[in-house]
Amino acid sequence: MKRHNFSAGPCVLPKEVILKASEALLDFDNGLSLIEISHRSKPFVDVMEKARALALELLGLEGKGYKALFLQGGASTQFLMVALNLLEKRAGYLNTGAWSDKAIKEAKIYDDVYEVASSKNANYNYIPKGYDVPSDYDYFHCTSNNTIFGTQMKSFPKVDIPLVCDMSSDIFSRTLDFSQFDLIYAGAQKNMGPAGTTLVVIKEDILGKVSRKMPSMMDYKVHIDKGSMFNTPPVFAVYTSMLTMQWLKDLGGIKAIEKENEKKAIVMYSEIDLNPLFKGFAAKEDRSKMNATFTLENENLKETFDAMCKEGGINGINGHRSVGGYRASMYNALSLDSVKVLVEIMSELESKA
Ligand SMILES: *Cc1c(COP(=O)(O)O)cnc(C)c1O
Repeated sequence: MKRHNFSAGPCVLPKEVILKASEALLDFDNGLSLIEISHRSKPFVDVMEKARALALELLGLEGKGYKALFLQGGASTQFLMVALNLLEKRAGYLNTGAWSDKAIKEAKIYDDVYEVASSKNANYNYIPKGYDVPSDYDYFHCTSNNTIFGTQMKSFPKVDIPLVCDMSSDIFSRTLDFSQFDLIYAGAQKNMGPAGTTLVVIKEDILGKVSRKMPSMMDYKVHIDKGSMFNTPPVFAVYTSMLTMQWLKDLGGIKAIEKENEKKAIVMYSEIDLNPLFKGFAAKEDRSKMNATFTLENENLKETFDAMCKEGGINGINGHRSVGGYRASMYNALSLDSVKVLVEIMSELESKA
């Protein structure tokens, strides 16, 4: 049975990427596996350099003073690394979900953090708008896509302080002027590769402005100076991420995948809106094109619907416990056909009910 992987993360990757990655496990360099050669050997240094270059190329940030790093510790480590490297007095955070909330909690360890706006009181079902960001803050932090709640920022505030964005769950999924950001980070396992590495894209000139002593592993400057090889990098995660970025480039880049992602979102949300059995969770204008969250109006149908999904090969659509219901994650590698299969099951449920 063909399975359709709607998992929120770790998530679906292109089949050809998984094939190439598995070949490299067996034989990457004349009979040696990717995971048993030195990370300082030329074949792997080339992989790292290619991955770093592809990230900047896909985002349209080459030659603009940015550096790309592949670090460890997940996006969760970036919550504190951002604060350690940039927070001197006070920073502004937009609280749009559980991940923003965690980022705020980590930053508060180091200094003062101000929530410029929050949608916590509405269980994060919308993105706050019309807030002010004080211009004397060290930076402003936001989360472009709220994986758990299914909301996505469609625009970003114009600020004249460094703009930091957690793009873990929508990196490389839509065109944006990425040069409006000074620091972007994204755990690989949502839209780029396996868990184990985090992409950090950073404008170098925002660094070096805090007075605290910095542990080496936490210092962006150290990682930049060492070409993202300060310590042994997670070679398999970096290699597989590089393959996914190459796959995306060959498809035509972010512009091409954005068209596909839009088609998938239209099919998915049309069904949620037209089928009386289902109800969308997020405010319509803030809906995420990556994670569609919805509930069943009649809980009695849950067992039937779940069984139909199982039979149809639908995987990973259970909603996060803080929202309940369902979440269909439609990352770059999920095909429009998979969305159509899910939507068909939803409409079949309607005809049965
Ligand atoms: C998954 C996720 C994280 C956490 O990533 P880890 O790599 O598990 O630390 C952070 N932010 C967002 C938006 C996420 O979706």
